[in-house]
Amino acid sequence: MTQTARGGVEAPVEKTADTSPGSTFESIDPRTGEVVATHPVHDGKHVADAVRTARDAQHWWDELGFHQRKLRLDAWRRLLVSRLDEAAELISAETGKPMDDARLELVLVVDHLHWAAANAYKVLRRRGVSAGALMANQAATVEYRAFGVVGVIGPWNYPAFTPMGSIAYALAAGNSVVFKPSELTPGVGEWLRRTFAEVVPEQPVLQVVTGFGETGAALCRAGTDKIAFTGSTETGKRVMATCSESLTPVLVECGGKDALIVDSDADLRAAAEAAVWGAVSNAGQTCIGVERVYVVDSVAERFVQLVLDRAEKLRPGGQPTADLGPITMDSQVEVIREHIADAVRSGGKAELGGETSVRPPYVDPVVLTDVPEDSAAVAEETFGPTIVINRVSTAEEGVERANNGNYGLGGTVFSRSRGMALARRMRTGMVAVNSVISFAAVPALPFGGVGDSGFGRIHGADGLREFARPQAITRTRFRMPIDPMTFGRSTRTVRYLVRLMKLIRGRR
Ligand code: NDP
Repeated sequence: MTQTARGGVEAPVEKTADTSPGSTFESIDPRTGEVVATHPVHDGKHVADAVRTARDAQHWWDELGFHQRKLRLDAWRRLLVSRLDEAAELISAETGKPMDDARLELVLVVDHLHWAAANAYKVLRRRGVSAGALMANQAATVEYRAFGVVGVIGPWNYPAFTPMGSIAYALAAGNSVVFKPSELTPGVGEWLRRTFAEVVPEQPVLQVVTGFGETGAALCRAGTDKIAFTGSTETGKRVMATCSESLTPVLVECGGKDALIVDSDADLRAAAEAAVWGAVSNAGQTCIGVERVYVVDSVAERFVQLVLDRAEKLRPGGQPTADLGPITMDSQVEVIREHIADAVRSGGKAELGGETSVRPPYVDPVVLTDVPEDSAAVAEETFGPTIVINRVSTAEEGVERANNGNYGLGGTVFSRSRGMALARRMRTGMVAVNSVISFAAVPALPFGGVGDSGFGRIHGADGLREFARPQAITRTRFRMPIDPMTFGRSTRTVRYLVRLMKLIRGRR
């Protein structure tokens, strides 16, 4: 039986997915309803087999060492660059996003892949640390060893960039990977696997399993050494619950409700441009997209006007050059409509568009102002091309309101004089000052959130260490004249030790 992913125009099948052997599902172009491709629904047995095969492959991959792995990851990077448009077309077909947005996503993938491969040795290699005064006879080292098999579960909104934040770093650290892409974007996952296999044909170091949520749950139960999950907070909780059965460690990257703060001395034109791009690009389906703005009263009127001037020119569409594409997951359309309705019902003002802007599968940009803080449009993730702009008396009040929610993924501050100070007050994993979303494009920076946005980090040195276990080793260099860690010690030994401690550690 062939089923349809829930983003398609057919009826959603998420809860009743057929996982019997041989069943398949179709990925659908959300712009046209046309079938992009048919993929297998992998059951628990298939997933467990994939993880078993991945374990053998991992031994080989790990033993290659950093340098040999880097050569292969670099070859993969060059292949991705040479086939960038092929991948962009697939991303565009499965998500509906315009071609340039898909290309931009892949540019970031390539840059992160480069960084992970180039820095894995430097970050994870064995290094000596001081053994300290007590253990001066020991040589102490720490190194970061690959976990083994990492299961990666990804969303559909950035079907290459988001999972590659885990896949590239996990591979560079010496792990093999079994990747479960979203049911909406299985083709992108399969494309990544195929191209990797072209440069690493020896062993299935990167595998892909496709299907619905059940396939993801099967991956959590399949005996991987770590699960890296990116998706909604609700599913993140389910993933944690499943992983807790086997004490499998998890990295959880979830949603956000990111705020942009506009201070009274901000470059308003730049802030408005950033607000519109951050909120509307990718049709607002960005975990670190701008969902709300807090603007200082004295500049609010001018700022709102600049936002409107920019946003009213943008049109969604299915053509490759559209400003924004469709809402990829059809069930999200109702969430967006309800958030707009709730904002207006509770006293907010629709400055641009409104409920009529929702024309499935497209949503025109919507600008809402003065929306009560407890409205769903301010408190919950909308994941659509909408912006809520609320006035505050000071930028500090803006930060306070931004910090009020349960999410804490990213944030943005526009201020000429106090950008860094305001940024450091935000309760988020990342902040951009006088630009938007830029932290995601800096491979050396860790990416992740707090609260309902999850925990753990991808990208950067922290992202590499996320996929490795620290191993501490002490090696005896010579025997100490006195040894307190033996039954052969005398009472004088410990007394002497305590006296020594008082002398060297008991003072200021
Ligand atoms: P979902 O939570 O619906 O799905 C994420 C992945 O989990 C999919 O592959 C899904 O498979 C799988 N899954 C579903 N149920 C289970 C289960 N019980 N066990 C294991 N895996 C399961 O998220 P979306 O795909 O809708 O993605 C959008 C969300 O992702 C937004 O909230 C967004 O903010 C967040 N996101 C967070 C990012 C971050 O870095 N913090 C980056 C990008 C997005 P299937 O699709 O087949 O149901």
